[in-house]
Amino acid sequence: MEAAYDVVLLDLDGTLYRGDAAIPEAPAAVARIRARGIRPVFVTNNSSRTQSAVAAHLSNIGIPAVPDEVETSAIVTAERLVLQGSRTAFVIGEEGLLEALRNAGVAVAGSETPQVDAVVVGFDRGLDYQKLRQACLLVQRGAVLIATNADVSFPAADGLWPGAGALLAAVEATTGRTAEVMGKPAAPLLQAALERGGGGTALVVGDRLDTDIAGAAGLGWDSLLVLTGVTSEADLGVDGPQPTFVAQDLRYLFRERAR
Ligand SMILES: [Mg+2]
Repeated sequence: MEAAYDVVLLDLDGTLYRGDAAIPEAPAAVARIRARGIRPVFVTNNSSRTQSAVAAHLSNIGIPAVPDEVETSAIVTAERLVLQGSRTAFVIGEEGLLEALRNAGVAVAGSETPQVDAVVVGFDRGLDYQKLRQACLLVQRGAVLIATNADVSFPAADGLWPGAGALLAAVEATTGRTAEVMGKPAAPLLQAALERGGGGTALVVGDRLDTDIAGAAGLGWDSLLVLTGVTSEADLGVDGPQPTFVAQDLRYLFRERAR
């Protein structure tokens, strides 16, 4: 691997695992990253799981990880609320997001709340019309609109489910407002992940051109696209941000150099 990198920011789904199973090359690759003295940070746009849950899942599939090595869009969203002075939030989201907000000292408002500082939108498999309506009303009353990520779909075993971005689209369409987004390809999540890794020069590794690679390109950082997830060779060469490196899988990080 290029000695030039201090931190490797690793996407999860499609890069380290698919569903519940590790991608075969991933455990050894992460172990080799560590052995080289390069710091891995596990980065996910998904706000529904806590850092502990992500670390436990990785450890279970043969990639030992601790919560402090995990950066999620939920954590970054909570930090952003604190920075901008939002003390109360109405939340479309699951436990990972709720925990992150509680840990940051942001009060999560109930369904009848008349006013909040911020409306936060993340992935929420329990969302109903009443909650969606309340989020829209609160935005119209002046709440800041912030989203964990803008992924329109969530890849499930039986097909694509509406992702946080699809739920956000309903709020934006209703209110005419545009959310500030924390997750890839927006910069805040990747910047926070690099900081979590101790700073320095980052390599972003992921399977999606529109999030992982676009996010790295936007920051001027190097990226490696692995073809173990949603992107195939046929998708390459189209307009848009291009990865620095492309490879079949993570073994590329430790390939023998031709010269
Ligand atoms: Mg991915």
